[in-house]
Amino acid sequence: MESIDVLMLCPMISYLEQELQSRYNVLKLWTAQEKSQFIKDHSATIRAIVGDGGHGADAEMIEALPRLEILSSNSVGVDKIDLEKCREKGIRVTYTPDVLTDEVADLAIGLILAVLRRLCESDRYVRSGKWKKGDFKLTTKFTGKTVGIIGLGRIGMAIAKRAEAFNCPICYYSRTEKPDTKYKYYPSVLELASNCQILVVACSLTAETRHIVNREVMNALGPKGVLINIGRGPHVDEPELVSALVEGRLGGAGLDVYEHEPEVPEELFGLENVVLLPHVGTATVETRKAMADLVVGNLEAHFSNKPLLTPLV
Ligand code: NAP
Repeated sequence: MESIDVLMLCPMISYLEQELQSRYNVLKLWTAQEKSQFIKDHSATIRAIVGDGGHGADAEMIEALPRLEILSSNSVGVDKIDLEKCREKGIRVTYTPDVLTDEVADLAIGLILAVLRRLCESDRYVRSGKWKKGDFKLTTKFTGKTVGIIGLGRIGMAIAKRAEAFNCPICYYSRTEKPDTKYKYYPSVLELASNCQILVVACSLTAETRHIVNREVMNALGPKGVLINIGRGPHVDEPELVSALVEGRLGGAGLDVYEHEPEVPEELFGLENVVLLPHVGTATVETRKAMADLVVGNLEAHFSNKPLLTPLV
């Protein structure tokens, strides 16, 4: 049987690399000296791409691979893939929904608690020996605060469920109202931000949701409000976020994602009301393995003419 060439766009957990290598001829793009030349050299044989949330395929890459049949993304966010081009060319796209939902929702709650209860700052307080000189300052309660969610999808809903256990009233903004939930719907992000104390970004990144959290939204959330972003960096106007925090117009922020990862605005480093994570929403051994199994399972299904496990296109 002809071996199948699979283009892998970036390093991923070794389990996934091994599972792919045991089935396919894996071409590792990140090891190439000159990436466009590497793609050209293998363009006649590549039939599949494996990417992730940060590494997708634009129109140019898709056009450069005439035998491409499927793109299996190791993520649920597919904003780095030109989905229209894939549709146009009949290329299948798969992703990893559901298996990561709990993990990202757990982290969102962790970020809320870390910001409000100043967990990172108080950890530094103990380690630096400052506790011996006096008790840590008082912080702010989470239980009972109103949580506003942008994007009541799989992850947004899982965050809502968790926040309910903290007796938090829940409200949301999404493209569509969800009549089967009891959460309050606001028809605009601005109204949502004006009516909640913690605003969580959990929508997908599209042209419409880029900078969905802008200066006006941050001002509406206000000096006691907290912004949590576990969606994608470009959902938030980052220079505006920095000035809102520095000027005290926004109360705090918990961020897992940034506009230009892995670059993080240095102005944030000195702010104790901000908790910064290195895009680790799904980064546990259990969840990354489950995601890897879906990536491989989708490719296996495709190449054995079976229904895809989690098709998007
Ligand atoms: P999902 O179930 O597809 O939910 C996406 C939500 O975004 C839906 O509620 C959708 O609204 C909303 N949305 C889409 N376009 C919108 C718009 N123009 N205005 C307002 N809302 C809009 O996806 P999911 O599984 O929950 O994942 C959500 C996102 O989380 C992913 O796309 C990804 O970017 C991010 N994520 C981040 C991490 C991390 O490591 N930090 C990990 C996984 C995922 P409707 O319900 O009205 O359609």
